[in-house]
Amino acid sequence: MNTLTWLLPAALGLLLLWMSWRYASLRRKLDAYTRTVRRAAGSEKPALELPTDTPGLEPLSNTVHSLAAAYTVQLSQLEAERARLAAILEQLTDGILIADANGLLRMANPAAEKLFGGAPLTGRSVAITLRHHQLVETWRKCQNSGEPQSETVELPATRKYLQLIALPDQNTGGVILMIQDLTHQRRLETVRRDFISNISHELRTPLASLKALAETLQDGALDDPPVARRFLARIQTEVDALTQMASELLELSRIESGQVPLELRRVSPEKLLHSTAERMKVQAERAGVSLQVECPPGLPEVRADAPRLEQVLVNLIHNGIKFSRASGEVRLSARLEGDFICCAVADTGAGIDPDDLPRIFERFYKADRARTKSGGTGLGLSIARHLVEAHGGKIWVESEPERGSVFYFTIPLA
Ligand code: ADP
Repeated sequence: MNTLTWLLPAALGLLLLWMSWRYASLRRKLDAYTRTVRRAAGSEKPALELPTDTPGLEPLSNTVHSLAAAYTVQLSQLEAERARLAAILEQLTDGILIADANGLLRMANPAAEKLFGGAPLTGRSVAITLRHHQLVETWRKCQNSGEPQSETVELPATRKYLQLIALPDQNTGGVILMIQDLTHQRRLETVRRDFISNISHELRTPLASLKALAETLQDGALDDPPVARRFLARIQTEVDALTQMASELLELSRIESGQVPLELRRVSPEKLLHSTAERMKVQAERAGVSLQVECPPGLPEVRADAPRLEQVLVNLIHNGIKFSRASGEVRLSARLEGDFICCAVADTGAGIDPDDLPRIFERFYKADRARTKSGGTGLGLSIARHLVEAHGGKIWVESEPERGSVFYFTIPLA
């Protein structure tokens, strides 16, 4: 009994001593491990810095290590996702703006920056960036209602035609704005619409007169040989005009679609002017117009497809003669201008009204319908412009009504 009385307290005392020693040692290990975890949390790859199987803390250290490894994998997946998204936004031709709930831009891709002036947009306010009241209103409606909105507007300053789609950003309470530049598309639509309306207009007149001529012949003119012959000649003229229009249209569409590959060779501008003038001489003489060539000798050669370039000159000379009165003059010349030869076809004819000047290179455009009713399709200058531009040159005109016109075009040197 006596032995028990002192043994129990002694055993309890020893147990307590052992427990406090275990506690102190565990505490030390935990403190050391906490310091390691803290250090690892601040590093780029925590899983690499975290030990596994820490003596005495094996289950804890292994679990924390697995957690950190899973976190690193997820982080790198997120990083790859983010880089992919950034690359897409960078290359996207549509503008993307991401605005926060306060209306400040958090992100703008290069296409959006280009659309709105070229300067960095991040941090700017949406209203100041979009500027146009309809676009700002669309963003505001989306911000207030949380519903997608869209609007199409034409910016008066730049004449750009934009479509804005605003989508609510559920995560931030802001708005994602997508801006598409539809200017080119719209221009193509207008050109196509004009083209169809022009071509039907151009076809209507000759077809109506063919119908009238045929009906008159049927109604008795056939029995009067001189009248019948006159009518047949007129039918032939109309058919010729239609045939010319069809072949010019075909030619134009082939040039426009790049189906006419240029065979570029070294060509002497002087020879080209003289040979074309020779070709057009009879036509000029018939109209009573003198055709002159003025070309300084020794001009360097150009890089050109000679028959195509001759076609440009023929179209311009043909107009020069057509719009001149008898005893008028058409003068061809060429001069060196930097890396180009600049050719000019000048006439002393009717000239072109300043209002018409910017449009005469358009397909089917005729400056004065009454004056040009007798002939011409309005395609000649359009073909000339395409051919000159395909050579890498420019074409333009200077003109004064009743005094004459000068058509210039440049062709790069060989
Ligand atoms: P067209 O076959 O009708 O001549 P073009 O495309 O060659 O077609 O010319 C377009 C229009 O430009 C003409 O209808 C005419 O009104 C004007 N134009 C072209 N060249 C001249 C010129 N040398 N003098 C006056 N007007 C011209």
